[in-house]
Amino acid sequence: MKIDVLAIGAHPDDIELGCGGTVAKLVAQGKMVAFLDLTQGELGTRGTSETRREEAASAVKVLGVNHRVNLNLPDGFLENTRDYQLKIVEQIRYFKPDIVLANAIDDRHPDHSKASKLVSDACFLSGLPKVITHSNDSVQNPWRPKRVFNYIQWKELEPDFVVDISEYMEVKIKACLAYKTQFYDPASKEPETPIATKDFLESLTYRAQNLGRLSGCNYAEGFTTDKLLALKNFDGIIL
Ligand SMILES: [Zn+2]
Repeated sequence: MKIDVLAIGAHPDDIELGCGGTVAKLVAQGKMVAFLDLTQGELGTRGTSETRREEAASAVKVLGVNHRVNLNLPDGFLENTRDYQLKIVEQIRYFKPDIVLANAIDDRHPDHSKASKLVSDACFLSGLPKVITHSNDSVQNPWRPKRVFNYIQWKELEPDFVVDISEYMEVKIKACLAYKTQFYDPASKEPETPIATKDFLESLTYRAQNLGRLSGCNYAEGFTTDKLLALKNFDGIIL
């Protein structure tokens, strides 16, 4: 298996919220994208692991992504341990992505920053030949993704770059709303949570619009990166 981009999230719905528009755009450009969820989101106040699984399956259909794996690590208790790093290394070596998209380096949910460090370390370790992992009883070859980009989610972090998602804003919202139990639903009898409010749903659009305003497009998603980015030329820039 060789894909272009592996998007990783601590919880099912993180990828859709943080970079769903970018994923939809990559898929439209013919790129191979896969999703890796670290936990089932089983501590979520609303819904259950079961509903979350069904919702995650609907969301990838909306985005046109064919592969979604869940590592079943414990929600709320992610740690940067050897055991968890190796589980992620196995997936990186299986999918062989050039680019990894990972959680925000700092966010409201403590799992997000923990996942960002865990994923960065796993990407590095995955390139070391003496770190041995197996797939179907055979030893996996080392593989190091060339870049890790962290998608901005809840907190207003300063992006290092943004991706124009103007044509994919609608599909992003549709993918997020596939998580019926998690987001705003006026008919729901479940307890209110910060992400289930009408305000939060609206914030997805106005925050993307604001990044678009600052960068010269209608809607954008922001990312940070710990490695300096170079442009091959000026052709892809929104002027
Ligand atoms: Zn999350």
